[in-house]
Amino acid sequence: RLLVDVIPPTDIGVTFDDIGALENVKDTLKELVMLPLQRPELFCKGQLTKPCKGILLFGPPGTGKTMLAKAVATEAGANFINISMSSITSKWFGEGEKYVKAVFSLASKIAPSVIFVDEVDSMLGRRESPGEHEAMRKMKNEFMVNWDGLRTKDKERVLVLAATNRPFDLDEAVIRRLPRRLMVNLPDTINRYKILKVILAKEELSATIDLDVIANLTDGYSGSDLKNLCVTAAHCPIREILEKEKKDKVVALAEGRPPPPLSVSTDIR
Ligand code: ATP
Repeated sequence: RLLVDVIPPTDIGVTFDDIGALENVKDTLKELVMLPLQRPELFCKGQLTKPCKGILLFGPPGTGKTMLAKAVATEAGANFINISMSSITSKWFGEGEKYVKAVFSLASKIAPSVIFVDEVDSMLGRRESPGEHEAMRKMKNEFMVNWDGLRTKDKERVLVLAATNRPFDLDEAVIRRLPRRLMVNLPDTINRYKILKVILAKEELSATIDLDVIANLTDGYSGSDLKNLCVTAAHCPIREILEKEKKDKVVALAEGRPPPPLSVSTDIR
């Protein structure tokens, strides 16, 4: 039996406070998404206030698009369903159409819910691409039909959030269904500082560490790059301890002494 993975809002584990910088995107998402998911009845009066059923997050890799989608679901108390081409091909190979139907049907049953389509370009890219497999075409059509079904039900508290690094590869029909498009760009110096602050919020830092300097030296780094940098830096003292232990052992053996005991608890900072 093939299953659709759903994360309940209490288990998602990402809130807007975990995301550094990106204030404009966060504010827009709060306005566009949270209220319609929480109070759909407020948005049923005129045509112009109809709740938005599709939002595109686009920008370079590692800039926080997945985090934003998760934070939206957490804060709206919505279930999070993450779908991507890789999950379809690995778990539902050849059954994409069935999978899409199952996802939309489940999303409606457990609403409010957010369907997050990661790498939307690979799943719903240009329709006329040569050599496109029949199963793929059917899967895309099924997606469109279900998505349109959502858009006609104003009270349906289901939202499709899509993310891509390649917005220009998207099918026109998909773009039309994503009326709001938010750019999630690489951070500038000030925003890198803010992201570093969030990533390191719970860490004990040496007094010699100056985040302004790091922010200045990391031009072109994404949020994900900054996270990797911090993880690598945090491992440096561990490596130093291990190397020192190895050296001490060699010296002790050369001098005919028993090797010193390994450090058990060491302040690695
Ligand atoms: P991709 O396009 O490759 O799927 P993405 O834009 O979805 O990437 P995320 O998966 O959201 O990026 O981010 C990857 C990791 O980078 C996060 O788990 C987080 O650790 C870190 N990160 C990225 N942006 C931020 C940010 N603004 N604040 C804090 N951490 C961030």
